[in-house]
Amino acid sequence: MYPVFERKDRMKQISINSLTKEELTQQLKEMQEPAFRAGQIYDWLHVKHVSSYDQMLNVPKQLREKLAAQYNLTVLKQVEVLCSEIDGTRKYLFQIPEYETTLVNNVIESVLMKYKHGNSVCISSQVGCRMGCLFCASTLGGLERNLEPAEMLEQIYRIQEDIGERISNIVIMGTGEPMDNYDNVVKFIHMISDKDGLNISQRNITVSTCGLIEPMHRFAKEDLQVTLAISLHAPNDTIRKTMMPVANSITIREVIEAADAYYNETGRRISYEYSMVKDVNDSDACAMELVKLLRGKNCHVNLIPVNPIEERNFTASVASNIQNFKNILEKNRINVTIRREMGSDINAACGQLRKSHAEK
Ligand code: SAH
Repeated sequence: MYPVFERKDRMKQISINSLTKEELTQQLKEMQEPAFRAGQIYDWLHVKHVSSYDQMLNVPKQLREKLAAQYNLTVLKQVEVLCSEIDGTRKYLFQIPEYETTLVNNVIESVLMKYKHGNSVCISSQVGCRMGCLFCASTLGGLERNLEPAEMLEQIYRIQEDIGERISNIVIMGTGEPMDNYDNVVKFIHMISDKDGLNISQRNITVSTCGLIEPMHRFAKEDLQVTLAISLHAPNDTIRKTMMPVANSITIREVIEAADAYYNETGRRISYEYSMVKDVNDSDACAMELVKLLRGKNCHVNLIPVNPIEERNFTASVASNIQNFKNILEKNRINVTIRREMGSDINAACGQLRKSHAEK
């Protein structure tokens, strides 16, 4: 794994919109404000999604000024949006706050996908990533920093505002490794599913991980109802090591044990992600090996043709091969789907839009 470089020039002030309702209540109590103020302010932030303190009309000006002196109100600004003519998929680039203060040319990426069952948003959990997966564009520049809860919430609030429709599903599958930003991700899940906030059901939230086992075991004990998706991508450690550096320190066996622990604690069916790369992990033998790993488990396999990035020579498996792989799993009674491609006219692999913006 790569080391984390903390930005020295980053403002360390806390964001008011990263505080849970309980934390906000406690802070206002310490400021000797009446308890109902917490409810009002939380509502402005997490239901009405204001972008400045001035918009909190029923909060006295003096209190707004006091809060503003102590806390940032973190707002993401839309830099660019690409819209698919085919299925309404929208890819957003947002400025992170220090973009303005220090001219760090960094942005984050989020994607809106429109399904019959509702609007789903794929959010980033970090600025960059240090996992180094060889097929992924998000990790090419390493990790810049973790995203705060407010910055994860903002991706959803700003998209909801942009389209004027409710978001009902969230996948934490954008740039970053959620288990590498554990505390902020768990806090985000609590806040986005808070009945006093957007109140999105935890059952409609998916967290995807490359399989960091220690935080996964901790996650199993959090008493959450989210779906855990595992980026497996290979049926054995030898192949996995050629795709994912994390496989040098964590075995598939350990990853599956941690996923089983999550299932046993929560009863939530595990999703396994399998990006299909031509001549690397798409043979019949690989399918059979995968069957052996997952047989009898309450799980679901998502087959995804790898989205090639120019820096690496990974090629997607051909469609007939993917279908054949799916048939083998099905014959062995493993739930499997081939991931439908969304927004193919604005197609860019995970993190490519952000990367091309940085290069500009
Ligand atoms: N770090 C987390 C979440 C972000 S990546 C994880 O590893 O799960 C989200 C998913 O997209 C992962 O399954 C990842 O392996 C996959 N992915 C990344 N780049 C891809 C590409 N070029 N083609 C196909 N899948 C990709």
